[in-house]
Amino acid sequence: MRVSDTSGQATLGLQAPVQEVFSSVQGEGVYVGKRQIFVRFAHCHLKCAYCDTPMTTPDGRCHVEPIPGHGKTLMLDNPLSAEALLGVLKPLLAQAKHHSISFTGGEPLLYHRYLQAVFKAIQQHHPSVKTYLETSGTQPDFLETVLPVTDIIAMDIKLPSTTHEAPQFDNHQAFYQLAKTRPQTELFIKLIVNANTPPDELEAVRTIVTDTQTPIIIQPETLLQDGPAQLRPLPPSHLLAMENTLAQWFADVRVIPQTHKMLQIL
Ligand code: SF4
Repeated sequence: MRVSDTSGQATLGLQAPVQEVFSSVQGEGVYVGKRQIFVRFAHCHLKCAYCDTPMTTPDGRCHVEPIPGHGKTLMLDNPLSAEALLGVLKPLLAQAKHHSISFTGGEPLLYHRYLQAVFKAIQQHHPSVKTYLETSGTQPDFLETVLPVTDIIAMDIKLPSTTHEAPQFDNHQAFYQLAKTRPQTELFIKLIVNANTPPDELEAVRTIVTDTQTPIIIQPETLLQDGPAQLRPLPPSHLLAMENTLAQWFADVRVIPQTHKMLQIL
């Protein structure tokens, strides 16, 4: 069924399970501190040991915070149509100046056709707001759908020392090479590290990331726990050695922990 977006042009008709929509500040990566709207999708194809994201809301509905920071939520039924999502984004965008809309998860690329339609509508109706994709960086086939309408990609390279899963290096390589075919799309890499991260995993990153100008963010692993966030113990000497190793190969290497957890905001 073809339906209309808010401008009356036939575009959409797609649905996806969305966990929450809220306005806050980015807590990770090169855009840390920037005002964003977050759209968090349900489900993921991976099982990272450090994952702190529920795969669905307890009631399965989409929780929307209509007034940023107030904590009160509206519930919408899932799956959410692309039109309904755009209808939620519009009043949030009107309440503050936002740098971008972060599509996160779970793994947002599981819903790549939905993303493509929503990103197109955002670029058409809100051209000053960037489309920002936070992804595990493991599904190049799905990236192909959305790359032409994606402004920024925050791409993980999953290190087995922290995920406790099998390496995804071949998928990361294909994903990175595809992302680099579109120069208009900004790309940076996020590495979750801990005290067990060995030098050969950093060597794998060097092989995958062929452009030495690609920013590399080292994000020390946060402990999974209730209450104030704490980093998993990581000797400073090890952290600085990893930073120095990567800085020999890449022009822009930064160590940034998850700051939104320190602020205890969404
Ligand atoms: S890719 Fe992200 S959402 Fe998926 S399991 Fe890993 S940390 Fe969790």
